[in-house]
Amino acid sequence: MAGTGTTHLRSGDRVLSVEDLVVEFPAGRGRKVHAVSGISFDLMDGETLGILGESGCGKSSTGRAVMQLPPPSGGSVRLDGTELTGLTPAALRERRKRMQMILQNPAAALNPRRKVADLVAEGPSVWGGKPDRARIEAVLESVGLDPAVVWDRRPHELSGGQCQRVCIARALMLDPQVLICDEPVSSLDVSVQAQILNLLEGTKERLGLSMIFIAHDLAVVKNISDRIMVMYLGKVCEVVPSGALAGSALHPYTRLLLASVPDAPQGEGEQENSEPPSPLDPPSGCRFRTRCPLATDRCAEEEPMLRQTADGHHVACHMV
Ligand code: SF4
Repeated sequence: MAGTGTTHLRSGDRVLSVEDLVVEFPAGRGRKVHAVSGISFDLMDGETLGILGESGCGKSSTGRAVMQLPPPSGGSVRLDGTELTGLTPAALRERRKRMQMILQNPAAALNPRRKVADLVAEGPSVWGGKPDRARIEAVLESVGLDPAVVWDRRPHELSGGQCQRVCIARALMLDPQVLICDEPVSSLDVSVQAQILNLLEGTKERLGLSMIFIAHDLAVVKNISDRIMVMYLGKVCEVVPSGALAGSALHPYTRLLLASVPDAPQGEGEQENSEPPSPLDPPSGCRFRTRCPLATDRCAEEEPMLRQTADGHHVACHMV
């Protein structure tokens, strides 16, 4: 099985366990987009795992495949020990309530014709348990919205930050165990981003949730995550505790991301040198080799497997 190894998987209180996840899309003429190619990761109770990488690295496809939206092309996704990939549609819908997704564009995620109170009540209503007004008000207040002000408003009457708060409220109405946040602040003004990040972090702590936080912004991911998984072209490059990212990152791609942050010191050989290859035809061996300043012949022939370099720190590179 193609993959980048499983040495980073842990035992213990795992809420979510993903192994050899594959996501492929047909691209016509018998070709496939290799969006995610055999990656593995886990999520502990109460943990925030950041998934970091540039556009097209497969991080959003990973989040959606975990939600089974749509189910992955291959691999295993276990939530609290239950394998999701083999469930009947009815059983899957029941389990999926325990995982909720917060998306990048909150205004687009909300039906423009519905009022805030109806939007927030929608999830439980679908499941046959229309929530009472007190419950909706309590959840709106918990995300920093005044029910008296927003109750009858529609999405176009709200700011981007307020729309994202409504989306978070909708997710919380179903009492999830896991929140999957896919670029939840990247469409918001910088002044609002910190408020939403603080809200997500505070909500996670208050309700004891676990969280997957997907973003391309290194500073944002680093601040909110306990561990960070760096992805490149559908593969995992490095898994590192967030506190060790800046000082101890080892993979050439992670170092390139760090060096591309404005004002970051740029080391020798860490400059950007090309566009990423197409996921229709990813490079052999190490997928980063066409941009890597350290690449050798071995990198074209042999895929590097993840191996541990320090406690909790795993890297997939022949040269590290
Ligand atoms: S395996 Fe080779 S190409 Fe890949 S990151 Fe390491 S040195 Fe670069």
